[in-house]
Amino acid sequence: MYNKIVGFIRELYGEPDAFIPLHAPVFEGKEKEYLNECIDSTFVSSVGKFVDKFEDMLTDYTKSTKSVVCVNGTNALHLALLLVGVEQNDEVLTQSLTFIATANAISYAGAYPVFIDVDKETMGLSPEKMKIWLTENTLVKGNECFNKKTGRRIKACVPMHTFGHPAKIEDIVEICNELHIELVEDAAESIGSFYKGKHTGTFGKVGVLSFNGNKTITAGGGGMLLFQDKKLGVYAKHLTTQAKIPHRWEFVHDRIGYNYRMPNINAALGCAQMENLDKILSNKRKTAMKYKEYFKTVEGIDFFDEPENCLSNFWLNAIILKNIEARDEFLQYSNDNGVMTRPVWTLMNKLPMFAVCQTDDLTNTKWFEERVVNLPSSVRN
Ligand SMILES: *Cc1c(COP(=O)(O)O)cnc(C)c1O
Repeated sequence: MYNKIVGFIRELYGEPDAFIPLHAPVFEGKEKEYLNECIDSTFVSSVGKFVDKFEDMLTDYTKSTKSVVCVNGTNALHLALLLVGVEQNDEVLTQSLTFIATANAISYAGAYPVFIDVDKETMGLSPEKMKIWLTENTLVKGNECFNKKTGRRIKACVPMHTFGHPAKIEDIVEICNELHIELVEDAAESIGSFYKGKHTGTFGKVGVLSFNGNKTITAGGGGMLLFQDKKLGVYAKHLTTQAKIPHRWEFVHDRIGYNYRMPNINAALGCAQMENLDKILSNKRKTAMKYKEYFKTVEGIDFFDEPENCLSNFWLNAIILKNIEARDEFLQYSNDNGVMTRPVWTLMNKLPMFAVCQTDDLTNTKWFEERVVNLPSSVRN
């Protein structure tokens, strides 16, 4: 059976022999033209027209009030947490089924992650499980939520839109509002994904996108902060530029800032990619639909489809196998045969740095861990 699946993927990508990666970027637009423009103008670093243009393109596309580019998604997440007021010794709710960047960023802010289960329909943070954990473990004093056991403040919540599938974000917003928890969306995987017509990353106070090389579109490396509050966005820009007060010759800084600005050459690449985003998304959707149709005919394997009322970017297509043995056999066979596939990330709570962190029962998380495999999802020719 696995040889048939590998055969199907090879046919899908028109590659009878060559290695098929999980997600490779495509440069079919003005990438070279814009990069040359940077070099010819000498504006290759953190000042330049593409930086502003890239931010404006994302503000328009996501219908945000302001966007601020960063060097990568991880430091954008770090800054987002600082901007919503996360401080040393706070706790931040997130999912265990995520890429390490989410948990690392929480640690950079001096806070502790609490790992909550994911939802069966979305693979994103489960509002039901979050509600249960909060009800059992926290109390609200004044306008703040505290963990009864540790005494620490629960300042923020970082849901992640896994593989581009929007989480049940409206329900998460509601719980956060009720308990005075700030919402930061890790939308690193979900550019072009919409929940009820609204772009992911625009529901919380701050949302974060990533433009790493393996994401839907790339800037070589890069991140973007999305704001609905313009003032907060302007302040974020200040923090990313070493908190330097603009002046023609003086170097005055009014707080501890960060050198998190994206260079113009990366932004140039990002602008060119943004111009092709719609094309890339429709190509990826077609691929997803082909996988979906195909796996209807395969017994014991389900295609993980986009959640209801949502438009997913299908960043990484995922299938659900019967159990961990089937998962491992398929991983072995496909990777041995030049078709790159992979399981979900090692769960955050299993890593040595985060093994002591609190979790809930993580029932769905463990279920997915044993069954999910990502399939090649690059744009097809
Ligand atoms: C890619 C990604 C990030 C950001 O990663 P960078 O490589 O720093 O841009 C953050 N969170 C998740 C879930 C990601 O997949």
